[in-house]
Amino acid sequence: MDISVVIPLYNEEESLPELAAWIERVMHKQGYSYEIVMVDDGSSDSSWKVIENLAQSSDHVRGICFRRNYGKSAALYCGFEAAQGDTVITMDADLQDSPDEIPALHKMIAEGYDMVSGWKRKRYDPISKTLPSKLFNATARVATGIKLHDFNCGLKAYRRKVVKSIEVYGEMHRYIPVLARQAGFHKIGEKEVEHRARKYGKTKFGFSRFINGYLDLLTVIFISKFGKSPMHFFGTVGSLMFIIGLMLVAGLGAYKLYCLSNKIPAVLVTDNPYFYIALTVMLIGSQLFLTGFLGELVTRNSGERNTYLIDRTV
Ligand code: UDP
Ligand code: MG
Repeated sequence: MDISVVIPLYNEEESLPELAAWIERVMHKQGYSYEIVMVDDGSSDSSWKVIENLAQSSDHVRGICFRRNYGKSAALYCGFEAAQGDTVITMDADLQDSPDEIPALHKMIAEGYDMVSGWKRKRYDPISKTLPSKLFNATARVATGIKLHDFNCGLKAYRRKVVKSIEVYGEMHRYIPVLARQAGFHKIGEKEVEHRARKYGKTKFGFSRFINGYLDLLTVIFISKFGKSPMHFFGTVGSLMFIIGLMLVAGLGAYKLYCLSNKIPAVLVTDNPYFYIALTVMLIGSQLFLTGFLGELVTRNSGERNTYLIDRTV
């Protein structure tokens, strides 16, 4: 099979028939063998009914229905598990992404990209969304070193191997390019795609998207750098702080001794502000160190411990 189109959706009943018909039009025109995997993320409207009808009238449409709303990442994860096409395309269900982009994306994958991310250069979203998004993307670019303008674009294409090698969880759908690179897929491309205003319904992510987005960015960076060795992070920072504290204390002690031996009237050590700074820094340092140990214990005992992606064997 050439292409799997994976569509995560939550309460998008009005858009689905239009979207499915459009995708089928594009696919037939190009003569691809394909499937459309619709993942209903616990919709409370009649989305699932619509999917059932679509699946009945077309052999190409498959549906997965969650019992409750788990989030876009979960929907993508299950869609990826089910996908059988050589190229896997993801797109939002709200008709903001255009199926007309599929052939070009598929071509880029066929030409050797592991993954191609859409770039909504001209966006039809309110400024309250586009501005933070710009900031967010700039931060993600600097922090991860992946040169993409639009990390969170719903329209993306992957080589099948990529989606089978990564685990999208929590709200990590914003960072799939980072997950892909962590899994060893470095050929990450970008293509400008057409973006459209939402036709039906409303956005499913409120303001919390920005806060969660930044926190997840920190997580993704931390996990990728120190996930398998938390002590390297906590131990370094902890030791550094402890040493600073120790040096301050040593300095204070030496000064006290110097004053005593030279009969200079000196203030009490406990009256010196540096004493308290030293105390705090040493306490925080040892706490961090202990956190590192706990982190190590957790990773030693987790199922992740010896999971590696093996590409080939003979
Ligand atoms: N979505 C989902 N589960 C959720 C929230 C959203 O599957 O819990 C789907 C939603 O139906 C849409 C896509 O994720 O197909 C993107 O959502 P939305 O259009 O609301 O995001 P925005 O365009 O505002 O970034
Ligand atoms: Mg949308």
